[in-house]
Amino acid sequence: MLTRKEKREREKNQNFFFDFVKIQNHFFKDLVDQLKKVKDKRHQSYITYGPETILYTILLKSVFGIKSMRSMTELFNKDECIENIRVVLGLKELNELPHYDTINDFLAKLEPKELETIRIYLIKKLFEKRCLESFRILNKYWPIVFDGTGIHTFKEKHCEHCLRREYKDKETGETKVAYMHHVLEAKLVVGDMVLSIATEFIENESENVPKQDCELKAFMRLVDKLKKTFKRLPICLIADSLYACEPVFEICDKHNWKYIFRFKEDRIKTVSQEFRAIQSLETNGKSSEYFWVNDIAYNDRLVNLVEKVKVTENEKKQEFLFITNFRITERNAEILVQAGRRRWKIENEGFNNQKNGWYEIEHVNCHNYNALKNHYLLVQIADILVQLYKYGSKLLKQLKKSAKEISSKLLEAIRTRIITVEDLKKCKKIQVRFTYT
Ligand SMILES: [Zn+2]
Repeated sequence: MLTRKEKREREKNQNFFFDFVKIQNHFFKDLVDQLKKVKDKRHQSYITYGPETILYTILLKSVFGIKSMRSMTELFNKDECIENIRVVLGLKELNELPHYDTINDFLAKLEPKELETIRIYLIKKLFEKRCLESFRILNKYWPIVFDGTGIHTFKEKHCEHCLRREYKDKETGETKVAYMHHVLEAKLVVGDMVLSIATEFIENESENVPKQDCELKAFMRLVDKLKKTFKRLPICLIADSLYACEPVFEICDKHNWKYIFRFKEDRIKTVSQEFRAIQSLETNGKSSEYFWVNDIAYNDRLVNLVEKVKVTENEKKQEFLFITNFRITERNAEILVQAGRRRWKIENEGFNNQKNGWYEIEHVNCHNYNALKNHYLLVQIADILVQLYKYGSKLLKQLKKSAKEISSKLLEAIRTRIITVEDLKKCKKIQVRFTYT
C-alpha cells in the first residue's frame, strides 16, 4: 500500500490518457484500421472526417464518462485534445473534431453490423492473447451470461420498432401505452470484467405484428450470431430461470454447449418435485451447504440440479438452485454454483454501471433509431476498452481510484497533456495480467 504522499508523487507527471492508449495498443494494435474500414454510406464529396475520427471521438465520449453529446463537443474543443486524437489515430492533419450533429448523422446511416464486426475483432484478439484463460469454468468453458434489459422508454410512439406495453396511469386510472426499447446481451464474465460479446435488440419488425418480439425470440437470433462468429468456442450459458425451458435445452444439445440456469420451482414442476423428493430422503430434513441430484428425466433428456443453502448473519436462509447439464460431483458443485451466481455481475456491474454510473445508456443521444442502436453498441465497445484499462493498468492498481476519478483523470489528461508520435513509437512492450480482486 502506498502512503498518501507516495500516491501524490506517483500521480505527478502521469499522463493517464497515454496510459490508457498503451493498454489499447497492447491488445488492439489494429483498432484504428478497423475503425477506418467501416462501410461509410455518406455522400463522399461532403466528407470532412474519416470514419475513424468520428468513431474514436464518440468512443472517447464514453471512455471519459461524458453524459451528453453537447458537452462532449464543448469539452473536446481544445488544441491539446485535438492533437492527441490526431496522434493516436495516426493522421497527418486534424484541425477540428467532428461536431455532435456530424456524428449523429454518420451514426444514423451506419449499419450496426459494422460496429459488431469491430467488437468481434476486439474479443477475438483477447482470446488470441490468452490473457483470460484462468477464468474458464473447469478449465474449459467460457462463462457467457445472457440477460435482457430495457434501455429506453417513451410516453409516445418513438418508431415503428418500439415494443408496446399497456399500463394504468396512477393519477387518472386511464389505460395508456408505453413505448420501449429493450436489448438482450451476451456478456463474457472474466474475473472482475463483464465484456459484451454480442447484442440483440428486442424490437418489433413493424407496428402491425400480431405478436411482439420477446427475450426468448431474441435469444434464438443471438445464438445464431454467436455460433456463426465463435464456431468452436466452448461456451457455458449462464442465465435466469426464464431460460430453463425445452427450446433452450435443445439449442445447447445441438451446439454442444453447457448451461447453468437459475431454477425456480414452478419453471418445470416435475423436475423440482423429483429433486425435493430425493432431497428429503437423502438428507432426512437436515440441510447441508450443497445438495445435488443428477439425471432427473425431463422430456427426452436428463438434467441435473444443485442447490446451495447459505445461512446469513441474521440466521436467514438463502437458497440458490441451479439446473445444469454439467454432471455434478463433490469436486465441482461449488465451482458450478459460483459460476451460476455470476449472473448478478451482468446486472450489477454490467447494466447498472452502464445505466447509472459511467455511461448512462438510457440517455437518448439522438432520436433516430438506427443511430440509437449504434450509440448503444459504441458504449459496449468503449466499455471493453475501459474495463481492460481499469483492471489492467499497473498505475491504476497502485492508486486505487474510483470509477469517477478514473474517468475525470483521463479527461483531464487528454485536455492538458500532449502525446507525441515519438512517445507512441517509444512505447515498450507491456505485460497485462488480470486476477480476481
Ligand atoms: Zn422506437
